[in-house]
Amino acid sequence: MLQVKNITKYYGDYKAVDNLSFEVKDGEIFGLLGENGAGKTTTFRIILGLLEQTEGEVLLDGKHIDYSLTDKIGYVTEERSLLTKMTVKEQILFYGILKGMKEEKIEKELKKWLHDFEIEDYENRKIKELSKGNQQKIQFISAVIHHPKLLILDEPFTGLDPINVELMKKAIYQLQKEGCSIIFSSHQMEHIENFCEKLIILVKGKAIVDGYVKDVKKEYKKKNVALRGEKLPLEEIKKIKGVLSVEKQKEEYIVKIEDETIAPKIFNKVKTCNITKYDVEEPTLNEIFIAKVGEVRE
Ligand code: ATP
Repeated sequence: MLQVKNITKYYGDYKAVDNLSFEVKDGEIFGLLGENGAGKTTTFRIILGLLEQTEGEVLLDGKHIDYSLTDKIGYVTEERSLLTKMTVKEQILFYGILKGMKEEKIEKELKKWLHDFEIEDYENRKIKELSKGNQQKIQFISAVIHHPKLLILDEPFTGLDPINVELMKKAIYQLQKEGCSIIFSSHQMEHIENFCEKLIILVKGKAIVDGYVKDVKKEYKKKNVALRGEKLPLEEIKKIKGVLSVEKQKEEYIVKIEDETIAPKIFNKVKTCNITKYDVEEPTLNEIFIAKVGEVRE
């Protein structure tokens, strides 16, 4: 289990991380969200011991992270950092040996990962000859070849097409099953939405939302009612107290409401119309992100 306890980081006078605390249990997938410059990479670098925090502590399975624990950690950086003149196999051997693995074991693991990522024939290809997406897969393999206890992924899905996003997710789930604690950052909310159980939204280094995705959504209270139908009394719906907005989205209308007690009032207005859809939906993480970050900025 990873425990981040009250970490603060100053760069000179600038506070980049502000009293941040969270835990990632074994087998948990944790999302760190935030705008550009919110402090995500700084947090990762502190966890990895690459940067010293001004205050607070970071523990992995109860121990401070130091050189003796680096073999238990895997890191995929935001800047892709491969040795591009090497072949895939040379590259992975290089990282595996650094992590203290035997050559035979590395080769076996590499074959398995190349198979899972559907690039079996790439073992002896030079990294620089691979597409960006395939280089990303190799970078991921180099970070997990030793089966880490903690895996940190900075924007792991950026630049991948939808099929490769799915392959990457599957690979991450495999590590989750082994009990690996996984933290990742992403600007793409839809990835966080379906993928991680717990999250933090950082604004200027401070956690403004923190918890399990389902609880965050519940606590947010606002809901959306999706309506489709003919001659909907939109003006009347807009006048209901607790209706925040009505927007047309393709063939349907999305009515944003203060909380779910407003939903039956909308139903009352449309029940005699010819409606083909009436759904009370949870807000998306994207909406929560925009609203919460907006509140702090105001
Ligand atoms: P992005 O999503 O753009 O990668 P981030 O959330 O990872 O951003 P950080 O890179 O952690 O953000 O940066 C947090 C803040 O600290 C930013 O305002 C950044 O300019 C500042 N910062 C980062 N590194 C340094 C440094 N070495 N010296 C001074 N300020 C820094």
